[in-house]
Order: sequence, then structure tokens, then C-alpha cells
Amino acid sequence: MHQETIKFIRKVYNKPIGFIPLHEPIFGGNEKKYLMECIDSTFVSSVGKYVTQFEEMMAEYTGSKYAVATVNGTAALHIALLLSGVKENDEVITQPLTFVATANAISYTGAKPIFIDVDRNTMGLSPQSLKEWLKQSTIKRFNKTTNQRETINKETGKQISACIPMHTFGHPCRIDEIKIICDEYNISLIEDAAESLGSTYRGKHTGTFGLFGTLSFNGNKTITTGGGGMLLTNDKELAKKAKHITTTAKQPHKWEYIHDVIGYNYRLTNLAAALGVAQMEQLPDFIKRKRELAKKYEIFFKDSGIEFVSEKKNTEANYWLNALILKDRKERDEFLEQTNEVGIMTRPIWELMNKLPMFKDCQKGDLSNSEWLVDRLVNITSSVI
Ligand SMILES: *Cc1c(COP(=O)(O)O)cnc(C)c1O
Repeated sequence: MHQETIKFIRKVYNKPIGFIPLHEPIFGGNEKKYLMECIDSTFVSSVGKYVTQFEEMMAEYTGSKYAVATVNGTAALHIALLLSGVKENDEVITQPLTFVATANAISYTGAKPIFIDVDRNTMGLSPQSLKEWLKQSTIKRFNKTTNQRETINKETGKQISACIPMHTFGHPCRIDEIKIICDEYNISLIEDAAESLGSTYRGKHTGTFGLFGTLSFNGNKTITTGGGGMLLTNDKELAKKAKHITTTAKQPHKWEYIHDVIGYNYRLTNLAAALGVAQMEQLPDFIKRKRELAKKYEIFFKDSGIEFVSEKKNTEANYWLNALILKDRKERDEFLEQTNEVGIMTRPIWELMNKLPMFKDCQKGDLSNSEWLVDRLVNITSSVI
């Protein structure tokens, strides 16, 4: 069976022999022109017109009021957590089925992740599991010092201050239901939208539902700046703070160096942003072509006994990475073996976060859907054709 799939991928990519990567960037627009302009202007670092232009284009495209560019997606998550009020010794809920950056960023703040299961069909955080876990494992109380309601983990006595769902492979999770639950428990909602640029839920762009959304422009993402990220928020004050602490928290002054809090050197460079602007110009076309490719896969795998992961009701997916659900772990391993053997790059899901040595002692709920998916899901060739 997998021989048929291999033949089909080779046909679709018009590559009868040789290596086919999982997700290759395309530089088909003004990338070189804008990069040369940067070099000629000498503004190659974190001051320059492309950084602002990239932010403006992203705000416009996603419908977010503000966008703040960062050196990478992990840095964007780190800042989102800090500005959401996550403190050392807090706890932050996320899904175990994610790229390690999500859990790493939580750790940078001194907080600990708690892993709650995903839905099988969206592959993103399950509102049902979240609700049940919160109901069973936490109490709500009023903090007189901060004058705020807060949610406390019964087992550890610690505050759960944020929740980070992730829109896996570009398929939006049930973010409106998650938002209602987070609001009810006074937990800040941060969407890890690193994989879902161009994906919408009920017509609204992913990453714009919570207090913050974060994007990534790593080399394998839907658009790339080499390395880069972005914070999305509708809150003017938070956007201002985000820009401030990602630029070493320097107070504006013609010559003095006054920094008023501990800041970070997290601002995207003008060189990277020049790539970003050129990539943004092509983004709608990339999404269109990715969706056409997904359609081809969908038709090919129909009635094949292999499930192609299609977009769910109320969502529009960017199909960042196309995914198949195979029968079991054995079939998954055979598929990975046979495709990679002949130079067609395919990949399993990441090892679940709770299985990694640094997160193995973290609290978790029942994770059967995540485990079910890990045993069966593979990502197949997804570059824009
Ligand atoms: C890519 C990615 C990130 C951010 O990665 P960077 O390489 O730091 O830009 C974060 N979360 C998820 C789920 C990702 O896929």
C-alpha cells in the first residue's frame, strides 16, 4: 500500500527520483530585493523600516490590533507568558502533544507545565478534558493582595496562571470553548499559533482569541524569516510593554542608556523582517496552493483505508503539515521506514512532552488521545507546489 502513496507523492511533486523534504521554504518574490535594500541602507539590525512594516502587515492579515516581532517563536511565547503575569512557581496548562518550545517557554518563567489531553479530531487542547481537570483538581479563591480571583491547584497549592493551547499542524482547536473556560477560572489564555498562520476558526484568525497569540517564522513554517516570531494582542498597553521588554527595556532618549526593568534582546532584525515582508506578500498564494495540495491528498486517500486529516467544521486550515492516521504503531513505523528509505521525508508526531526527561515529573491529566495520536499519525510532504 505505501508504495502507492510514494508513487503519488512523487507524481504530485513531479520528482520521479531524489529527496523530497517535508516542508521546504519558497523565496519566489521580493526577498532578494528587500535584503539588498537593507544591506545598502546599513540598517541590518533591529532598527529599520522592515520590522515595523512586517508587524503592520501581520496585524492587518490576522486582524489583530497589534503585532510585535521577535527573534523567534519561543521568545514570543516567553514574553507572552511574562506579560500575562506568569510568575516563578506558578503553573501553566498546555497540551503534551506539541513542539518542545511551548513547554520550554513555560519553564523559562520558572513556572511548571501541567499537561492536559488533546481532542482526537482537532489534535489541539480538549476543552472537555480541560474543564474536567480544572473542576476536579483546583479551587477558586479571591486574593486580597492582588484583588483578583485566582485558581489554585489542590495538589500543589500553586496558582494556575495561564493556559497555552496549540493549533496542531495548522488545524484550529476548539478555541472559543477553551476561552470560556479560561475566563471562568481567571486563567490567561495564550494561543501558540506557531503552526497556524493563515488558519481561522469561525472566520477569525487563530492567535487572536486569547490575551496573546504567538507565531513562528522558522525555516520549516508556513512563511519564514530564517528565524523569527511575532506576538499578537488586542491590548494596547500589553503591546507597548511587549515592544519595550523585547528591546532591552530602554527608555527612549537621544543618547542616554536608561533601562527601567530587566529586558530582553528579543527584537527581530531588519534583515529577517525584510524576508518577512516579501514572504507576507506571497502568503495568500501559499495558503491557496497548500489547500489545493491538501485537496489532492484528500481525494487520493479517500476509500484507501488510510485517514487523511481534513479540516474540521467551523475551521479553515492552512494545512501547514499534512497528516495521515494509520492503523496502529506498527503500520506507522512501516510507513516511516518505507518512505524515508526512498528519500521521501515523513515524520511522526513529537515525543509527548510528559515523556521528555525534563518534564516527566510534571502533573498531567489522562492523556489517552495524545497517546492514540502518537501511535498512528505521520506528517507527509507538505511544501507549497
Ligand atoms: C515552531 C514552533 C514554535 C516556535 O519555534 P521557534 O523555532 O522558536 O520559532 C513554538 N511552538 C510550536 C508548536 C511550534 O511548532
